[in-house]
Formats: sequence, C-alpha cells, structure tokens
Amino acid sequence: MKNKSSVARPDAGVKVRNPVTPARRSLADLLAPLDQLAEDSPNFVINREARFDMEGQSYVLPRYLFIGPKSGDAPIRIGIFAGIHGDEPEAVYAAVRFLRFLETYADLAAGYCLSVYPVCNPTGFEDNTRQSRRGKDLNREFWGNSAEPEIALMQAELIARCFHGIISLHVDDTCDGFYGIVGGATLTEYLIKPALRAADKFLPLDKRAQIDGFPARDAVVRESFPGVLRAPPSVRSRPFEIILEAPEGRPTFLTEWAFVAALESILAGYRKLIAYAQNL
Ligand SMILES: [Zn+2]
Repeated sequence: MKNKSSVARPDAGVKVRNPVTPARRSLADLLAPLDQLAEDSPNFVINREARFDMEGQSYVLPRYLFIGPKSGDAPIRIGIFAGIHGDEPEAVYAAVRFLRFLETYADLAAGYCLSVYPVCNPTGFEDNTRQSRRGKDLNREFWGNSAEPEIALMQAELIARCFHGIISLHVDDTCDGFYGIVGGATLTEYLIKPALRAADKFLPLDKRAQIDGFPARDAVVRESFPGVLRAPPSVRSRPFEIILEAPEGRPTFLTEWAFVAALESILAGYRKLIAYAQNL
C-alpha cells in the first residue's frame, strides 16, 4: 500500500512546459477494448454517468457491470476497484484483463453481478502520478468529508450498490512479493489464503513479518491506513474487504495474471461460503 502521501515525487509541483514533457497516458486507448466488448456482449453494461471536471477538462469514472450467468438466488454484488493510485498501471491493466477474461469464461462469475472500476484516479493515470491532479492521495480520503470529486463519486457507488464484497487492486514498490490486506467481515480470512495461493503461481508472496509498517503473517496484513477505500462506516452488515497488493517492477503479464488468479479464487471461494451458509 505504501504510505508515501506526504513524500513529494522528485518532479512534484515542478511545472515544466517544454516539448519533451512526457505525453499523458491515454484513457481512451485504455478503455476502447472494454467499450467494444460491452457493445458486443449482453453480459456487459457500461456506465459513464459518473463524471467530474478537473482543470477545465471533463472526466469519467467508468464502471463496467458484468452480469454472470444466473445461479438461482439474487446476484452477489462485488465491487472491484483499480488504479486509485495513478502510478500503478499494472493494477488497471489487470482489471481490464479480468473483464476480458470473464467475457470468455463467464461461468467464473456465475451468480455474481460485478461492478468493475478499472481506473479510479483518471487524472493520476494520465499523469502517471500516485496522487490525483489536485495532489491528493485518493486512498486516504474516504469517509472523511473529502472535497475530492472522485471520492464523492466512489462513495456514492459504495452506498448505492451495497456490495457484499469489495476488492481493491494495488501495486507496491516497497514489498518483496504479493500480499493481501483484509478487513470487513470475518469470513474475509477464509478468502484471502486461497487467493494468495492462486497468485503465488505467478508471483512470489511477501512472507516478511512486517509489510509497509504493519505486522504481517503469511503475506496477510490485518490493518490499513485511515481513509482507504472501504464500505460506508455506517453499514452494519460488513462486506468482505480485500486489498490485493502486487510487487512493483515484475513483468506486467505475470502481475496481471496474479491478480486475475486471485480474483477468480475469491469469487469461487465466496460462492462456496454463501452456499454453505445457506445450507446450515
Ligand atoms: Zn496503491
């Protein structure tokens, strides 16, 4: 997760306007394949209504709804959030890959309605900065009267969609390997271990006793920073909350597949837990 919110990047605040200023990443290029997929598939619904303006430009916080094959009961609602830190593009690409993977293997989402937010910090993604263009670490702003427009939109989604589970994807430049941070419902504990085993096929796990300043065991951390993305504090029936963290600097395809494997494992695991609970 890396707590570097107060540490300025070397180039932070320096406005260099010359021809070698690096080009911004393209949100349009990122989302084009998903938009095409949504157009072609009955399982996908795009929502582009979450909009905000920043420095005179209009942005969308895109949501892709994937409706898996029905499995009897009301669909289980899961929110998957990536790219809240703009300099972690591998997490964003993993969310995109996961959606494309689901289109081919829809049964993985049987019984689910998945809300996937692949790029939660669009200006940071464009600029390749952890913070938004307004200089905020958005993953420290939740449920604290934030003035940031992205936070208002995401909080509205978290309230309206009443998720059974929330999964965030991150890339960490301080860790030795893949790890998970668990919160929310106690059953989260039963989901994280198989998810990490699945990710371990692609990336090693971070087995240190301390990760990012928090005690850790078997690549699982049970605390996180205040203001991270989570369910509304007033919600009494807590959803499971999992933050998946991949190590920075590994081959992108391995990172993407580690995330996809972990997500697949969580969906399968939660479906089983729900079925078990219903049969008690
Ligand atoms: Zn992050």
